Amino acid sequence: MRSELYIDGKWTAAANGGTFDVVNPATEEVIHKIAAATAQDVDVAVKAARRAFDEDGWPKLSGAQRAKYLRAIADGIRARQAEIARLEVIDNGKPFPEADWDIADAAGCFDFYAGLAEQLDSNPEEPIALPDARFTSKAVKEPIGVAGAIIPWNYPLLMAAWTVAPALAAGCTVVLKPAEVTSLTALELAAVADEAGLPPGVLNIVTGSGSIAGQAIIDHKGVDKLAFTGSGPVGSKIMAAAARDIKRVSLELGGKSPFVVFDDADIDEAVEWIMFGIFWNQGQVCSATSRVLVQKGIYGRLLTRLVDETKKIKIGDGLEDGVLLGPLVSRRQHEQVVAAIEAATAAGATLACGGKRPEGFETGYYLEPTVLTEVPLESDAWREEIFGPVVCIRPFSTEEEAIALANDSRFGLAAAVMSKDDVRAERVASAFRAGIVWINCSQPTFTEAPWGGYKESGIGRELGRWGLENYLETKQITRLASGEKWGWYIK
Ligand code: NAP
Ligand code: MG
Repeated sequence: MRSELYIDGKWTAAANGGTFDVVNPATEEVIHKIAAATAQDVDVAVKAARRAFDEDGWPKLSGAQRAKYLRAIADGIRARQAEIARLEVIDNGKPFPEADWDIADAAGCFDFYAGLAEQLDSNPEEPIALPDARFTSKAVKEPIGVAGAIIPWNYPLLMAAWTVAPALAAGCTVVLKPAEVTSLTALELAAVADEAGLPPGVLNIVTGSGSIAGQAIIDHKGVDKLAFTGSGPVGSKIMAAAARDIKRVSLELGGKSPFVVFDDADIDEAVEWIMFGIFWNQGQVCSATSRVLVQKGIYGRLLTRLVDETKKIKIGDGLEDGVLLGPLVSRRQHEQVVAAIEAATAAGATLACGGKRPEGFETGYYLEPTVLTEVPLESDAWREEIFGPVVCIRPFSTEEEAIALANDSRFGLAAAVMSKDDVRAERVASAFRAGIVWINCSQPTFTEAPWGGYKESGIGRELGRWGLENYLETKQITRLASGEKWGWYIK
């Protein structure tokens, strides 16, 4: 396990020698200590990233040259996939098969953006037709500069990959701050990048708190672009900080995503996807479909089946075989989710199952998977993100009612619909006010497809070619043809 900051190609302690504890959420044990970056450390990291961008030539490399580094990072991650996945489990709590999948996805993300980096070489210029024959014009794409990336704890290495891979592919250099509660695998990414020979300063990892290290990144004049994934309130702060010196900003925030199930749906299939949509990663998923709307004809049968299956979920340490629900990430998260469930029942919701610490789990941040019914539409449980294994389910009668309920939210990250009637499913999909829509499933995520939210769920899109564009500026180059005279002042 690494414990130091990775700045300018070197491992270093924090300037003041400060550290923070790494806690395994399954055991509540302190398993490690990691350097807590100060504003001074962030300043050194940003200056290294600036030099790598402005002087050392990272943006001047061809896309194909940068792609070689990205592929080497992908290979380096895969070469140690099981080891990195294990670190993710003891840091985040998720079941090992999920962590293993995340790490494979993270490697795949570096490969994908290697491909897009190469395409930047073959298609760098776009000619622009002008209405004045004396001029020709073209648009070119160039990297924005130094990117400051701040990420959450729910998919630690994968969220790092989603920001670092497109940024490096575009030709930006990066200062990344992982979430304090899950910093182990970001440091492994630094180790892998170092082994891949990435030039010093191109990728810097500063572990530490949001209020110190994170704040220092968002306030730094040397940062050109902020990429943030996390909560709405911190997203607002980041946008306000960016406004001070007009930094580019992309935000991937939370949601309260609906899942509409019509009564022609297969109940088994619906229950499977409802469960995957809210219990995967202990429900700590920004796109979790946490509000389930079921048409009246099957509501009773579906709810009974959902509760039966939910009670069968195997809870335990993510390193144990067959576990499908690990502990929540931290004591704070556990307390917040328990408080949200208590507030829901106080507001009139009914606990169909779950809602408490599972029997036999006195230590570890464990919580039973929870199904809430009769959740009042104006309650926080229906409106606010809980970010835990807690689903609210309610019946509806008509398609219009389902769409209105689904869209009645300040968020718009994801939405899902299930029906055997393809025309209806497409109609509902197009009526959803959300950036990610699933038909007959919930959550499958592909590196190739755009990811991001409407409304208060964020600004900009990650993944796919959209993710690359997050890190590119557009420049027009307009030329006056030789021999042409302007003749405004001098005739
Ligand atoms: P968070 O509290 O917003 O933290 C996210 C990151 O921001 C952490 O690294 C945090 O540092 C840092 N941070 C906190 N205050 C900061 C400040 N003043 N300046 C700069 N950075 C600061 O969110 P979280 O609790 O970790 O993650 C859960 C939230 O993320 C949920 O709301 C979820 O919906 C959202 N999320 C969204 C997506 C998406 O794709 N849209 C994906 C995953 C998660 P610390 O290390 O101190 O916490
Ligand atoms: Mg941890």
